[in-house]
Amino acid sequence: MVRAVDVIRKKRDGEELSAAEIDWMVDGIARGDVADYQWSALLMAIVLRGMDRSETVALADAMMRSGLVVDLSSIAGAKVDKHSTGGVGDKTSLVLAPIAAAAGVLVPMVSGRGLGHAGGTLDKLESIPGFRVDATLDRYREILRETGLVLIGQTAEIAPADKFLYALRDATSTVESVPLIAASIMSKKLAEGIDGLVLDVKFGNGAYLPDLADARRLAETMCDVGRSMGKKVVALITRMDQPLGLAVGNAVEVAESIACLKGEGPDDLTGLSLDLAAEMVKLAGLAGTIEEARGICERTIQDGSALERFRRVIAVQGGDARVVDDPELLPQPRRKVELKADRPGWISRLDARPIGEASMLLGAGRVRVDSAIDPAVGVILHKKLGDRVEPGEPLCTLLVDDEAELDRAREMIEGAYHLGEAGVEVPALIVDRLIAGGE
Ligand code: URA
Repeated sequence: MVRAVDVIRKKRDGEELSAAEIDWMVDGIARGDVADYQWSALLMAIVLRGMDRSETVALADAMMRSGLVVDLSSIAGAKVDKHSTGGVGDKTSLVLAPIAAAAGVLVPMVSGRGLGHAGGTLDKLESIPGFRVDATLDRYREILRETGLVLIGQTAEIAPADKFLYALRDATSTVESVPLIAASIMSKKLAEGIDGLVLDVKFGNGAYLPDLADARRLAETMCDVGRSMGKKVVALITRMDQPLGLAVGNAVEVAESIACLKGEGPDDLTGLSLDLAAEMVKLAGLAGTIEEARGICERTIQDGSALERFRRVIAVQGGDARVVDDPELLPQPRRKVELKADRPGWISRLDARPIGEASMLLGAGRVRVDSAIDPAVGVILHKKLGDRVEPGEPLCTLLVDDEAELDRAREMIEGAYHLGEAGVEVPALIVDRLIAGGE
């Protein structure tokens, strides 16, 4: 007979847990016979002692099976999703999902909300007037069948153990653990009914795991979990030192994503979105090489089919698709405040985290899971790493509704910009590519 107290002691003493013990603890959440304080103690023991590969796989598997594993086999075609570990200005989902769908991939995307300094896809989508992210599982299947693409939030049926454990981790300082993050992400993603998954694992000051070595370990662990469950997984390890693109917020990020789909977006965002979409096309078996897949993706922007797909999914999910032609229909702030350079120089560093935090303070993000957000506010950057600035030139524009935190937000952004005497090389965004389950 398994007892919670013995499982906790084993992990506390650095021993390996069996799959049966892990299953019993996870099932105990639904049975109601493992108390919150026992799971909290086990979580802390896992943070301090770690978990090996087989324990992490067992945990992800048990968490996935705590709810419904969606069966999409009645819809013909390869289903591939993308997950990013999160960052500032990271709106690649909004760009790559329509690109991959237009290229023939079925994209059943279940996304999350922003928390803290990093934004979330659901909040961005909800800034489109009328857009609904709360479909039932039947409707989820229907939209995927009709549109080749569906963009919703996690339903109560998907990995409920993760919902319980995530709330406990948030309250007990046990979020920052590679096996716990890997199991949390993979349990939800593998419950979506996908065949393959592309991961964007970020490192740098705007990522949850700033260290490259930790990000690499997380990417390897998630690839291992996917492989063990018979899925194809590709992970790109990418820099999150400065925000991605120029827009940080919600409506403003939707507007930038639309610009990207029209071929008018910033190079870093467009490039990374195309690289990730190409991985999805390749995983779906629609191209022989990654170069061919990249070409297919680029053509969906050139021929307008990706933009058209975005327009269609907005309409099908209840949103006002006119925003695609007229982004001014998205929520607009009451005031725009420019921040100007006070001396000449080159941008030698632009820290992502304070920019994300400033945007959150203005109302674009949440301090707590249940805080309300203001879709219209955020930041538009005019200067990024490596750019030359002259005195009086605008560095960025703050999009403001409530001015209560404006001074603090302004100070944070001023602290995020570092000016140097000489130009700096802008390093490549992608530093590595890992693959599990075969090319
Ligand atoms: N995102 C998740 O879904 N889970 C984590 O543990 C961390 C980030």
